[in-house]
Amino acid sequence: MSLNNNRKKHIKFIERHLALLPGSHEAQDVNKMAIVFYAIESLCALEIDTKEIYTKNLGWIHKHYSKISLENDEPIAGFVGSLTMDIAGVNTISLPNTLFALLTLLILDDRAFLTDSIEMGRISSFVSACQLEENGSFMSALNFDSIEASSVDSNDLRFCYIAVTILYLCGSRTINDFSRYIDTEKLVEFISSQKCNVGGFGQYGEPHAGYTSCALSALKLLDSLDRLSEEFIEKSITWLVQRQVSNIGCSKFENENNASYDEFDHGGFQGRENKFADTCYVFWCLNSLQILTPDWQTLCNTSLVRDFLLNRTQNLVTGGFSKNDEDDPDLYHTCLGIASLKLIDESFNGVLCIPKNISSSLES
Ligand SMILES: [Zn+2]
Repeated sequence: MSLNNNRKKHIKFIERHLALLPGSHEAQDVNKMAIVFYAIESLCALEIDTKEIYTKNLGWIHKHYSKISLENDEPIAGFVGSLTMDIAGVNTISLPNTLFALLTLLILDDRAFLTDSIEMGRISSFVSACQLEENGSFMSALNFDSIEASSVDSNDLRFCYIAVTILYLCGSRTINDFSRYIDTEKLVEFISSQKCNVGGFGQYGEPHAGYTSCALSALKLLDSLDRLSEEFIEKSITWLVQRQVSNIGCSKFENENNASYDEFDHGGFQGRENKFADTCYVFWCLNSLQILTPDWQTLCNTSLVRDFLLNRTQNLVTGGFSKNDEDDPDLYHTCLGIASLKLIDESFNGVLCIPKNISSSLES
């Protein structure tokens, strides 16, 4: 079984989600920018010529770009997730929607926008405004009526990753570039404060594969992985490799004490200890491992990973991937299922979550 056997079904599954979008269901979804990114990125990874087909939709994405200015300051800017949320005088731009929109524009090769230094500066200033002075972490949005980080929001490692990635897409490459907009030292300290004793990163001392991937990807983009000790890196690699669920050998007996053990999870990855395997955690674990060591493909069993994805969570009837072998497929798990397989093929940039042929355009 390979991904290509069912490529057409996956493409149809993904395109159905996009067909619901522009115009027709305008009011329904505040997460539309996320849906568009998951779909366009997945189609691109399946080697559809997304630029050829979807360049005509660039205007729809641009409509979600919003500028805010207070008094005489230079405006800051970002993307809103839905036009129904874009109310005059009310600031609804957010870091996640801005990242989803920028990555989609990158895949569609919208150079005119992405090389506009004034707009990239405005977006970078928005990122700057979202950083919290007290600990260097980021809120996902600003207060509705001021250019101040919104205090009602959460500020975990996800938003640190999103903030750094947006700055990277806006042109920051060196630590000095990033430091024009954010306090990189405080940010690296915050990320380090989320390290867990057993390896990995997480809140309240409990490692989590998603947070671990966010922390490592952010450090990689900041060129600051050398801030982690060898000992911590070793512990993290061990913790990540142990997240691969197995129903054979010693790990079977370890797993049988796990209340969430399912023998059909064989080969998949769990996001935390004692949890079921899940397609999205395959991606977060593999991405973390490939950042930490060039030997990652030999440390975990990638052929069992492929079996888990292609034989358990891939839906052979409708196309798409689900989180396990019971749920219906959804776009998020489809995106990360395909991304995981492409990561194993070494054709995917896991740090930026886009195919390598797209990210290579940023490396010039
Ligand atoms: Zn999941």
